[in-house]
Amino acid sequence: MNNFSYIKVSNTAEAILQIDGDIRNKIVAGGTNINDLLKYFITKADKLVDINPITENNSIIRLDNGGVRLGSLCTNADTAYDPIIEERYPLLSKAILAGASAQIRNMATNGGNLMQRTRCYYFYDINTPCNKRDPGSGCSAIKGYNRIHAILGQSESCIAVFPSDMCVALRALDAVVNINGPEGERVLAFAEFHQLPGDSPHIDNSLKHGEIITSIDLPKEGFNKNYSYLKLRDRSSYAFALVSVAAAFEIEDNTIKEARIALGGVAHKPWRVSEAEDFLKAKAPNKENFENAANIILEGAKGYEHNSFKIELAKRAIVRNCFMALHPESQRPGSKPSL
Ligand SMILES: Cc1cc2nc3c(=O)[nH]c(=O)nc-3n(C[C@H](O)[C@H](O)[C@H](O)COP(=O)(O)OP(=O)(O)OC[C@H]3O[C@@H](n4cnc5c(N)ncnc54)[C@H](O)[C@@H]3O)c2cc1C
Ligand code: SF4
Repeated sequence: MNNFSYIKVSNTAEAILQIDGDIRNKIVAGGTNINDLLKYFITKADKLVDINPITENNSIIRLDNGGVRLGSLCTNADTAYDPIIEERYPLLSKAILAGASAQIRNMATNGGNLMQRTRCYYFYDINTPCNKRDPGSGCSAIKGYNRIHAILGQSESCIAVFPSDMCVALRALDAVVNINGPEGERVLAFAEFHQLPGDSPHIDNSLKHGEIITSIDLPKEGFNKNYSYLKLRDRSSYAFALVSVAAAFEIEDNTIKEARIALGGVAHKPWRVSEAEDFLKAKAPNKENFENAANIILEGAKGYEHNSFKIELAKRAIVRNCFMALHPESQRPGSKPSL
């Protein structure tokens, strides 16, 4: 049993002060991931800083530049069912609703979603070597059971995937992350937020310890005419993606003006390949072009004993989802269930 102190803070400045740049002090938001990490001794805390009372990071607001700001403390449910998000960013709404369960989405926050840790089985089993949990100890997954693991961007130190659905849509939409910390505020492009494992897989992202995510900005363009989020998994609900695809297009006169394709479940970060999107520009939205784009995205993919199937699965999922994005009428998020 690890003893820790617990404190609630009511504004960002107080949170930064309480965390004090000390790795032993941890933020708790919805608690849906950090509580498990603490319970299973994967992470330790001397102090838990509960940021839930911070009202300044708890709303969804329209920005002067036409975009929308998502508070880091808004829940995933409130974000997905917000009328502005449903109307202007339905890709995001659909991706969030593909994740977890209604109960978890009611607790999980947007900031926590970006910061959630991998679902690699060995990471959660403290009796096995894992470079992410215990740097330098080895990777049990490379020669172990690796069905859910990465096929792109992996390293010899770690083949884990980042499990979020929401972040796949945020990557496709070119969101930016607003951060505050001891050295002041900074803004990070979503593409720069999550990192590949390289030789330091214990580092998931570019947030420095002591910093806090305050909000996430969506640009003006929400691709609400042609979009689709497809999540393929072993169970039809309450399971993480084997492969997921966020696809969005701007189409005029049967010609693709702008294409966005991001993948989840395949790499240590949401995966996007600009060459594939450039290839689709000024082309017709047809099977041959989608297949070529899929091949570009999966170029260099490498499978392991139990997950090589993901390479072909990802290609097919891309093509299928690009077609689904052409028929947005079937993509509207459902109405909020009463709980
Ligand atoms: C059974 C189960 C199934 C799930 N299925 C899915 C799924 O299918 N798809 C999916 O995308 N997700 C899924 N999730 C994950 C879930 O979405 C995340 O656990 C959740 O989004 C984390 O948010 P939270 O607010 O609960 O974070 P917490 O658990 O409170 O915190 C998680 C981490 O984020 C840090 N943190 C939190 N807020 C901030 C902030 N503002 N700034 C800096 N650091 C912060 C914490 O210190 C901690 O390290 C599932 C979770 C469970 C338990
Ligand atoms: S894949 Fe990464 S998280 Fe999983 S055991 Fe290897 S080092 Fe650990």
